[in-house]
Amino acid sequence: MKSINRLSHLIKKAYRKVKRFWRHPIRVFCLHQVNDVYDPKTCFECDWLSLQVFIQTIELMRADYTFISLEEAYKRLNQRRIRFRNFAVITFDDGYRSSLPALLWLESQGIPYTLFLNSKYLDGRSISPHLFEHALSIDPLSTESQIASNLYLTEDSIKTLSLRWASLASHGYEHFDATTCSREEFAKQLQRCMDDLSIFPNVIPFHAYTWGRHSKETDKVVTSLRLVPVLVDGQKNLNADGVIHRELFPVCTRA
Ligand SMILES: [Zn+2]
Repeated sequence: MKSINRLSHLIKKAYRKVKRFWRHPIRVFCLHQVNDVYDPKTCFECDWLSLQVFIQTIELMRADYTFISLEEAYKRLNQRRIRFRNFAVITFDDGYRSSLPALLWLESQGIPYTLFLNSKYLDGRSISPHLFEHALSIDPLSTESQIASNLYLTEDSIKTLSLRWASLASHGYEHFDATTCSREEFAKQLQRCMDDLSIFPNVIPFHAYTWGRHSKETDKVVTSLRLVPVLVDGQKNLNADGVIHRELFPVCTRA
């Protein structure tokens, strides 16, 4: 019995190796703020990347990877065809306005990207509570309106992005932990975000969980609204398993 189990284990291991040879994983990267100036009040060190390091990293990766859109990645995962090429996808969470030069650089290079947005914060209407708390810890005199005024992308700036390279998707109406509220409340948050985003032509049916926190219950809510759940679990995408796995961008250091 022991030898049968061992043989079965070896066969499974070999099968996984062969499968990886024929079907390369698709890597989906998660970024937040990419810009030239680190502002401790509105940046978290782990979420910030210098524009120069970002560009250098992408240029290095281009030798091994073809950058594709999130939609194309999802389609390829579902096709279950042979994948000899290495594909990668760039995504940004939260829609920080300071990342605009990075987005425009991607467009100039013909590299697609997806922005996961909280529709409540567009146009400086307010900011995510966790970010405001952080700002207050650095400067107790901070006010929400002062920070919100230039923190996030505006509707107008989003409209200037290229329809060809940029796609938009849900990060929820507000930036909050989906696992801490009822299914109904979470569904309302998602629906409101998608309704708000519908003013833009390039919206795709994906939802990225804030902080990547999710559960089987929240996944059910997301899929019931015909959205694809997007995680941040450090995994590469090998098969179509109903969700998109994401990794943090390989470099995250202060330049
Ligand atoms: Zn977020």
